[in-house]
Amino acid sequence: MIIVLLGAPGAGKGTLAGALKEQLGVHHISTGDLIRAEIKAGTAIGLEIKRYVESGALVPDEVVTRMIELRIAATARDGKGYMFDGFPRTSAQAVELDKILSRNTLKIDFALFMEASVDIVIQRLTGRRVCRACGALFHLKNMPSKKPGVCDACGGELYQRADDNEETIKKRMTVYNESTMPIVDHYRLQGKLKMVNADGGAEQVRVALLKILNEVNEKKS
Ligand code: ADP
Ligand code: ZN
Repeated sequence: MIIVLLGAPGAGKGTLAGALKEQLGVHHISTGDLIRAEIKAGTAIGLEIKRYVESGALVPDEVVTRMIELRIAATARDGKGYMFDGFPRTSAQAVELDKILSRNTLKIDFALFMEASVDIVIQRLTGRRVCRACGALFHLKNMPSKKPGVCDACGGELYQRADDNEETIKKRMTVYNESTMPIVDHYRLQGKLKMVNADGGAEQVRVALLKILNEVNEKKS
């Protein structure tokens, strides 16, 4: 199964993927995670892209699609499928993803558009905490860790992402509306768009996605 998760920052893409990747047995590919790993490791690419991320701008398409291409080339043959989270984010990336998959004789099953209201998204992002060690996601109010500042999954330290401050969040929302919203039509035109209301939170969206998966699987068989 190959699924693209679409939605504003804070819509819950990463939380959903985290909750479902094992059950579905798919590779979870988050370009945000890949990008933060490059920056943390201090690679040449990491140094070059740091300023984009910190200001809330998008990293150039070529850099991101190259990362994706390498990941897909390394895993395409294992047949597990993918859940793409935070990619594609521009029309050019959406076109490129179709091409990369097609070169590997793969194609997207559907794109799940997670619609969430602006107020909710901002509240989620400002309260978000991330595990430094394993990347697990928490929220100060909605999904607090058992011990403050400590990851439930691995005991790692929780931190607030540098771009989860109000000013950068505003910029990310503008970028989302201008660059990412248009790709909803890319999938609509391909007849692959599924929508779900993401205001209700993680569990509701998880159930909705499982229902869609059942329908898609029935059609396939
Ligand atoms: P969120 O969905 O909360 O905005 P992400 O972790 O997906 O968080 O992305 C964080 C930042 O990483 C983005 O603001 C952007 O700078 C960069 N980034 C992530 N994915 C992409 C992408 N596909 N194309 C360009 N930049 C990206
Ligand atoms: Zn952890």
